[in-house]
Amino acid sequence: MTMRVTFLGTGGAVPTTERGPSAVCVERTGERLLFDCGEGTQRQMMRFGTGFDISHLFVTHLHGDHVLGIPGLIQTVDFNNRTDALALYGPPGSKPHLRSLIEVGGFSPSFPVTITEVRPGTTALSQPEYEVRGFETAHRGVRSVGYALVESERKGRFDRERALELGVPEGPLFGKLHEGMPVELDDGSVVEPEQVVGPPRPGRRFVYTGDTRPTETTIEHATDADLLIHDATFDGQRAERAQKTGHSTAREAAEIANRAGAKRLALTHISSRYAADASTLEREAQSKTAQTEAFIPDDGAVLKIPYPDNSVAEWVCLSWHIYQLPCNGICERPDERSRLSRFRCGYPKWRYSRWFTLVCRRRLRWWAHWPRCGIAPKATPVNWPWGACDYCDW
Ligand SMILES: [Zn+2]
Ligand SMILES: [Zn+2]
Repeated sequence: MTMRVTFLGTGGAVPTTERGPSAVCVERTGERLLFDCGEGTQRQMMRFGTGFDISHLFVTHLHGDHVLGIPGLIQTVDFNNRTDALALYGPPGSKPHLRSLIEVGGFSPSFPVTITEVRPGTTALSQPEYEVRGFETAHRGVRSVGYALVESERKGRFDRERALELGVPEGPLFGKLHEGMPVELDDGSVVEPEQVVGPPRPGRRFVYTGDTRPTETTIEHATDADLLIHDATFDGQRAERAQKTGHSTAREAAEIANRAGAKRLALTHISSRYAADASTLEREAQSKTAQTEAFIPDDGAVLKIPYPDNSVAEWVCLSWHIYQLPCNGICERPDERSRLSRFRCGYPKWRYSRWFTLVCRRRLRWWAHWPRCGIAPKATPVNWPWGACDYCDW
């Protein structure tokens, strides 16, 4: 089952041309959850192809860069004749404010919208396969809450060979055993599920802090997280400012990820002062993380989160704006090479040229892009043979 994270807005309080205000979309088999909804989130959703079909929207706190996208998004989906309910979640005391954002200008959506205040330490949403828990964060005196999406354990691995050895015929009995039911064979013998099904396997854990100082509760909820998205507004030299404004530095975010044993750390809420170059923050975090992969996603970056027993994460290349393209480290810039080589290419048939042209023979039209890791050409190359891409301007 796929879990796909699209970074819609990775900037701080003031947006830049490269980074929008906070918003992250998590997609699990067709269901979409949105975490924060900064101004312009609906445009980012169009740009990066997530669609508007959001079922749950989790707000960490009421600062404008996390909520000002709500009125526009709600009105757009209303114009699109949405009928499905939308559930909003926010920190304690946020209900009247969220309600007024929805009903701004006397607007009233024609589909049901529910608002739930989430007390830190409680479960905000409980579904058969996962739950979303709220946890305490610390942000400049405002009520704020972080969210941890925790999947339930999965069934153990089914040992097909063993089942055949025991005389179980291939077919529906396999499914029955995998579901945990014993089966009786024609010769009267009984095969118990424990004989052919391994121990339950852990699900994934996705954690989103929103704006926060480093906290123990984040460590608690991000223990062994597959992805921790943490506030990293400043670099280490501005530690005092981070403290004063209720944010974290990249180094502090890395320390939290390290202590929690998180597998991946996405540094977000990047201050506009790093608009030209945020690599200092990334380097700072990487120098502090031993086991954790630390990176700064661009707006539009898409990450497929694997199950813990399959440790390879895939960056999905949907547009050339995503610079963490899976180019297997073949890149002439050594500083980029170290970063890129950590991501496996999900599409085995890529080819390379001097210009880092990546061509997937399998899905030629859809996956042919220039990565941004090299010298990206400003215009379509003369010999560009494949016409327009379905995802971007090429
Ligand atoms: Zn913010
Ligand atoms: Zn804030």
